[in-house]
Amino acid sequence: MSELNLVLVGPPGSGKGTQGERLQEDLRLPYYATGDILRAAVREGTELGNEAKEYMDRGDLVPDEVMVGLIAERVASSEAADGFILDGFPRTIGQAEALDTKLSELQRGLTAVLLIDVSDEEVVRRLSGRRICLNGHVFHMEFDPPKAEGVCDVCGERLEIRDDDKPEVVRHRLGTYHDKTEPLVGYYEERGILHRVDGKQAPDEVSGRISGLLATLRKEEEL
Ligand SMILES: [Zn+2]
Repeated sequence: MSELNLVLVGPPGSGKGTQGERLQEDLRLPYYATGDILRAAVREGTELGNEAKEYMDRGDLVPDEVMVGLIAERVASSEAADGFILDGFPRTIGQAEALDTKLSELQRGLTAVLLIDVSDEEVVRRLSGRRICLNGHVFHMEFDPPKAEGVCDVCGERLEIRDDDKPEVVRHRLGTYHDKTEPLVGYYEERGILHRVDGKQAPDEVSGRISGLLATLRKEEEL
């Protein structure tokens, strides 16, 4: 395959970060979690980073064009010559259009959009069971409980639920996902590049499915 330009889409708690990291290792492609790109550009004080910082300092959202510009800088670099894995952007149809425009300016285009599909019920179960200590050790009440309730096995600190993982907050995040991000599914379906992966299975099974899917795409391209 000439290049493999991938986007990962899925609700919070779908495990798409984990899959992105695995793909990065398997495919030896750069993994662009857009939040990380943004923070790095701000820290390094690049032109776009400084522009983004002005918005952030005012408490405003970083505009789509700035985010797309930051992504384009990475995509145009030699490390992404064979492709890239994008996670966290686009989240809206407007962002998807802006990304398409920018990529075509770079004579590039998306190869596939992988939707990691997980039901709301499963997302709430996964996220609201998470407990974390102040040193960042993570447990799960159902899947990986600590030995003593409410106490970190590793450092003995108290385990707490992050605000983002509280059931009412998770439901709100899911609402935003359904309103803003789910329309992307139709957008990419129309372009024939959307692929659904059942994210309810264990991470190994999900990666297996994704590898199979990408292998099929490569074969189709060879035909
Ligand atoms: Zn701990």
